Amino acid sequence: MEKSDIKSLSVGELNAYLESIGQKKYRTAQIQDWLFKHQCSAFDQMKNLPASLVQRLDQDFDINPLTCSSQDVAEDGTIKWLFRTKDQFYIESVLLIAEDRHSICISTQVGCAMGCTFCRTAQMGFKRNLRVGEILEQFIQVNQYLKTQGKELSNIIFMGMGEPMNNFENFDRAARIFHDRRFFNLGKKRLTVSTSGLVDKIREVADRETPCHLAVSLNGTNDSMRSALMPINDRYPLEKLFEATDYYVEKTGNRITFEYILIKDITCTEQAANELIALTGRRRCKINAIVLNESENDMLVPPSDQEIEKFIAKIRSKEILIHIRRPRGRDIQAACGQLAIKQQKVA
Ligand code: SAH
Ligand code: SF4
Repeated sequence: MEKSDIKSLSVGELNAYLESIGQKKYRTAQIQDWLFKHQCSAFDQMKNLPASLVQRLDQDFDINPLTCSSQDVAEDGTIKWLFRTKDQFYIESVLLIAEDRHSICISTQVGCAMGCTFCRTAQMGFKRNLRVGEILEQFIQVNQYLKTQGKELSNIIFMGMGEPMNNFENFDRAARIFHDRRFFNLGKKRLTVSTSGLVDKIREVADRETPCHLAVSLNGTNDSMRSALMPINDRYPLEKLFEATDYYVEKTGNRITFEYILIKDITCTEQAANELIALTGRRRCKINAIVLNESENDMLVPPSDQEIEKFIAKIRSKEILIHIRRPRGRDIQAACGQLAIKQQKVA
């Protein structure tokens, strides 16, 4: 029988397990300290536990829920990891290296159910949600790699495969463990989650004070444009989306980021620029423009450099913060929207 993944257990679950084997509850804090502060990769590294407990944990649990299957390095230094889950699914994580930070782009699901027309992950369909331990493990293994070079991860973006808000409980728990001072100790500003716009969950992030910055994939400036690119817009049209993002900004006092994909003749036109100004000009937000990366959809092409410059200049002329995100790791298919795995359930 498959062993369960110890990193996915909540404090209550770990307490109950320890009680059931006649151990004291204070061991929970010790075990989690080894798992999430020291990020150890074997039970026998847990030095303050009795040998009998170490042996029992080893017998009952897995400590490494993911196996590294391959690692690809791009020309710009971006590294893509392919991880295999215990049930033989594959997921990807991307390490982005900049001068002042090392960020990991984490997956939250195997595949995605949202069906955005420009995104390769959508082509995989939805397979399953990742467990908390599988979300944390991506960070742990990439961080272990960096530590061998005397470096460490400093930022997390939940922007890999999947829609984090469709796996809300696990995403929320993982974010809290990443933020927890006793464990990974990453400040709120170092965590960013991106959503295609599930409005009830945007409100929940605000209400529950999930420790992270919020980015919303806007990608369209009117309902017909956005619905054609992102089917979720039929369920939550722009008016509802902005009600939720306004609520988030008011409730948390944080600025929000809108991600905006630049597609020739669709989102990167003069009309779209005017509509984007009307939507964002009055709001406490910034825009991250992402040039379309090669996708499954031949009908969509990136704009020319000139078209991009014109678009950005128009938005900037209204003093709206817009930042253009340079694609990273395109040559290894690690850029936004390129994460997709053909090989599934192959041992
Ligand atoms: N599901 C979440 C997070 C993962 S996608 C979301 O949609 O927000 C992360 C970002 O990549 C989103 O902003 C999405 O719009 C963008 N993206 C997806 N496919 C892309 C592509 N082919 N080129 C450029 N950006 C893309
Ligand atoms: Fe899913 Fe995000 Fe891709 Fe849309 S853009 S299909 S929500 S991963």
